[in-house]
Amino acid sequence: MKQRILSKIKRWLPIRSVSRQGISRLTLRFGKRDLPSALGIGKKRSLATFQGLIADCVQAHGSIDVHFIVDDAVDDDDVYALIRFAHRLGCKTDVLISGVGVTEAVAERLLLCGTAWVWIPFGGVSSEVHFQSVGLSIEQSTQGLQQLLVSRQEVESSTKIGMLMPWVGQTPTQMDPLREWAEELGVDSWQPHLPYFGKDMANEPVPNHQHLNSLFQFVLQDSSVQPGWKRRQPWSCPVGKRRLEVSKYGRVCACPHKKPIVWEGETLSSLQSRLRDHRQEVHQCDRVCLHRELRFV
Ligand code: SF4
Repeated sequence: MKQRILSKIKRWLPIRSVSRQGISRLTLRFGKRDLPSALGIGKKRSLATFQGLIADCVQAHGSIDVHFIVDDAVDDDDVYALIRFAHRLGCKTDVLISGVGVTEAVAERLLLCGTAWVWIPFGGVSSEVHFQSVGLSIEQSTQGLQQLLVSRQEVESSTKIGMLMPWVGQTPTQMDPLREWAEELGVDSWQPHLPYFGKDMANEPVPNHQHLNSLFQFVLQDSSVQPGWKRRQPWSCPVGKRRLEVSKYGRVCACPHKKPIVWEGETLSSLQSRLRDHRQEVHQCDRVCLHRELRFV
């Protein structure tokens, strides 16, 4: 396995530009808090197996984006090894953490392994609203964010740090003070984070998203228990072609709401052919989702 990975790296450094017709984002789920259906499928897959998968993706599709959903699993050594590996292959790496457990050592590891962006969810400056939307105390989240900002200066890292605001419940009322606070702290970006389910969406327009807001009348009418909201356009959801998600336990999908398959550590092409039924299900889906993890542009 190691030889196979090394030979791929040699062939792909420097990375060639490859047509973006296929997968454009690989999502690796390492979080301890995960979708219930993502848990318990099997043993954690090895570092070398994941490196093989990233190398396969780069070989087939060029330097794709690699998105790490880490949540509070910041003590997992494989996460840093994989971020570094993806970065060396020219992939842009985004890391989503909860903010819990970000000690000085963790912050330095995150900032020095080639991470392009680290994102932390914030529900607002009110401790009550923050807890309701994020499920953590505002002190825990703030501590993690501040540690990252301080460490970034100390180690002179170019990693960007962003805040995600879950667009649920009362969080829109917190938007202005949160943005001001983020700017004061030196956070690089602030973005709304749309929930998986349209029924959970806050009843407020998202600033600077005119097109999305024009769809809100449909979103807010949709009380379905299905993800997103009812699709009115004739095209199918693009995640089937563009997105591949693999959890540390080997759960594989393009859409986290459709039936996954189990990764046996095989190559990307074999995995792709076994995902055919899953992709067919995605193709037939009559919903629209704009959750951050499912964005395709
Ligand atoms: S296939 Fe696309 S639209 Fe349908 S549930 Fe999955 S992400 Fe949402």
